[in-house]
Amino acid sequence: MNANLFCALRAAFPEDLNATAIETGDGPGAPLYYTWGDLERATARLANLLDSLGLPAGSRIAVQTEKSVEALVLYLAVLRAGHVFLPLNTAYQAAEIEYFIGNAEPAVVVCSPHNFTWISRLAFKAGTQHVYTLDEQRGGTLLDRASFHADTHTPAVKQPDDLAAILYTSGTTGRSKGAMLSHRNLLSNAQVLKDYWGWRADDVLIHALPIFHVHGLFVASHGALLAGAKMIWFAKYDPKAVLARLPEATVFMGVPTLYVRLLGEKGLNKAACAKMRLFISGSAPLLIETFQAWQQRTGHTILERYGMSETVMLTSNPYREQDGPRKGGTVGFPLPGVGLRVQDDAGQALPAGEIGGIQVKGPNVFGGYWRMPEKTKEEFTADGWFKTGDVGRVDAEGYVTIVGRSKDLIITGGYNVYPAEVEGFINDMAGVAESAVIGVPHPDFGEAVIAVLIAKPGAALDSAAIVAALKSQIANFKVPKKVFVLDELPRNTMGKVQKNLLREQFKALFT
Ligand code: ATP
Ligand code: MG
Repeated sequence: MNANLFCALRAAFPEDLNATAIETGDGPGAPLYYTWGDLERATARLANLLDSLGLPAGSRIAVQTEKSVEALVLYLAVLRAGHVFLPLNTAYQAAEIEYFIGNAEPAVVVCSPHNFTWISRLAFKAGTQHVYTLDEQRGGTLLDRASFHADTHTPAVKQPDDLAAILYTSGTTGRSKGAMLSHRNLLSNAQVLKDYWGWRADDVLIHALPIFHVHGLFVASHGALLAGAKMIWFAKYDPKAVLARLPEATVFMGVPTLYVRLLGEKGLNKAACAKMRLFISGSAPLLIETFQAWQQRTGHTILERYGMSETVMLTSNPYREQDGPRKGGTVGFPLPGVGLRVQDDAGQALPAGEIGGIQVKGPNVFGGYWRMPEKTKEEFTADGWFKTGDVGRVDAEGYVTIVGRSKDLIITGGYNVYPAEVEGFINDMAGVAESAVIGVPHPDFGEAVIAVLIAKPGAALDSAAIVAALKSQIANFKVPKKVFVLDELPRNTMGKVQKNLLREQFKALFT
């Protein structure tokens, strides 16, 4: 049997290939309609173009383009041709692109026409033979060349463990690492989610996430494709535009900031969500306040799930009522087939309720970091579990809660402080929109706890009063020594708070 992920996705296309697979919600000419037949033919043409280059099987195809349906088609075509898809964050500039291209040595690079000059120079220097362009309006050399090729194609034969994609991690805690994901990793996870989240052929997904990351590329796209369901496709996230299409949709996926921005729209109400079946959040922690505000405004309980580039999805709050409630502040249960355990630093398993490092196992867990055998070895235990780098606990009912990342753990005067715990108390205070608690070097304590706060619109925050209030709630060593009020937290494109930048900004505070 051919384990090519493309074949499984293709087999899920509906019988009526003239039905709409993707409808654009924004961009030039919207709405544009792509049928399933269009996806079939367009992926065939691109796969034939790739075949014509005579590349060795499993060549890396690096792609940095603006989000478009054609970019998704390119991803599917790379699978179809049996190569390895390597998406790059659109925010990356010359230094980053040079690192990724040098590190991955792609055979083909596809970029936006306006970046062609400098990206092609870097790519040719790294030994890449073919550089194509693709813009947001179906322009560029890639589709021009593909148009000369036939629109039928036999998918390349792949084994389950063959590489399908390399996803560079977001670089939140350090330099990005290339997570090597196989056809098995991606397909097994997509199948589990299809079942767990009850995907149906008559679902309509609002796809408003970038596609250079696990969330938009795999979780969202695979979900709809494997169900044979339609997507309404937004290249950019504009809450007003998304809200206008919400009444037609049944599934929405977002990072927490997308929910916060939708809550800022007056028109968000129960009527706008009349058809909606499921709201899913992930990639970064969803504040309990957002979770509750969403419930009040829409009558829907957001389902929060947890995953990472190295593993695709790991845990999910329940979809079906009989499996239990969706608990805000938790990321739910390990998905079927996923093993999850919590260990202390000495490698001892911890009982329910205790905080430690989260380790995972399963058919979804990646094979290793691209060209980093040492790093790969470090991140797996002797008995084959992957150390996620996240710190958390599992409650008596089995719900997993993430309390932070091991790299963000603060050790002050010998005591462990979990930033998420302190942030929880601060976020509950009047006038506070959100916060980030970090450790900075301190001559006496090793590290000192400090907090960065963002005020709610119109609110004035009194740092001394906040510190005093915290002192009555939590142990003194957890209370921030200093509190700063900023206009916003530094975030990357997936809405993750970049604590490394805050640590850098405040590193000389006590030294
Ligand atoms: P790097 O590994 O390069 O430092 P990164 O870990 O942010 O970057 P990703 O693989 O994109 O890169 O993100 C995975 C991480 O996102 C997880 O390890 C976890 O810390 C965080 N995350 C994902 N979903 C959730 C969630 N629902 N709640 C809290 N954190 C989450
Ligand atoms: Mg990570």
